[in-house]
Amino acid sequence: MSERNEKYVLIALGGNAFQTKGEPGTPENYWKNAYRAAETIVKIIKEGYKVAITHGNGPQVGTILEWMERSKDKIPPLTMDIAGAMTQGWLGYLLMQAIGNLLIKEGIKDHVKGVVAIVNQVLVSKDDPAWQNPTKYVGSYYTEEEAKRLAKEKGWVIKPDPRGGWRRVVPSPDPKENIEVGAVKKLLDEGWIVIASGGGGIPVVREDDGTLKGVEAVIDKDLAGEVLATALGVGQFVILTDVDGVYLNFKQPNQKKLDVVKASELEKYYKEGHFKPGSMGPKVLAAIRFVRHGGLRAAIGHLKQGYEVVKGQAGTTILPD
Ligand code: ADP
Ligand code: MG
Repeated sequence: MSERNEKYVLIALGGNAFQTKGEPGTPENYWKNAYRAAETIVKIIKEGYKVAITHGNGPQVGTILEWMERSKDKIPPLTMDIAGAMTQGWLGYLLMQAIGNLLIKEGIKDHVKGVVAIVNQVLVSKDDPAWQNPTKYVGSYYTEEEAKRLAKEKGWVIKPDPRGGWRRVVPSPDPKENIEVGAVKKLLDEGWIVIASGGGGIPVVREDDGTLKGVEAVIDKDLAGEVLATALGVGQFVILTDVDGVYLNFKQPNQKKLDVVKASELEKYYKEGHFKPGSMGPKVLAAIRFVRHGGLRAAIGHLKQGYEVVKGQAGTTILPD
């Protein structure tokens, strides 16, 4: 592996880069949020960082599934891997144009060739235990009765959501490999800002003859981000979300923010159950994996402090042991 360089960064954007809680998902709001995220990214690019970007897609996959559900009498519903691909185009386009326009306004041309979002597949294993235990909530909320009827009709697995109502759950298998990473690397090296592995990537399995096939699952974007960051060999993996760092005893009177922490210490807290599955849990796990795989530094912090998080002046920094 070539020397890691801290000026080479993969940034993972969370849900708040597109939609903030309680806000309707109008095009205006999507653009407003994308521009806000783009401002942070451009500030980082201006400092001379080489930047790759990944992003989540939970609410948007949910929206597409709901569209399909509501219009199924007129238009045949598509599958979840196709829905994932749709969100990569949708959200990739927003970020691509917002970042590109800000770069034009700022007159930055020298070290940036352009911004490109790619449709990107991520390999998962046919033997992943997640297939037997679906955990990821997707789509609409139903009454117990409705949910049970749909489960029978469509072969869905359903579970009560802690936030209320019943929902479909799908497997969230562990990402193994980013299929198009070679192209991402080439583009980055040539000076493009690349948006890749959107929504955790389109989940695919490899058949015995070597061909790929999409599967009904949703990969966690932070874990898939780590796979990409490691394969690219970037120095830093930076996860930007809606909280200013990683906390112990989160939301309890004795909560404490971690400023700088080594992987093994963070792993101890992980095992003690400080980080919720499906939110901070996978971010912490992804950060630990990244530094164990040779990364110089992982960081988790708030999107609006993104620049400071990259510089180590805000958020939580995770270092190798
Ligand atoms: P994203 O869309 O950025 O992936 P998530 O909602 O998945 O966002 O994860 C961020 C959330 O994790 C925060 O809003 C916070 O409520 C939650 N969280 C759970 N445990 C912790 C913790 N120990 N420290 C900080 N945040 C936590
Ligand atoms: Mg998340």
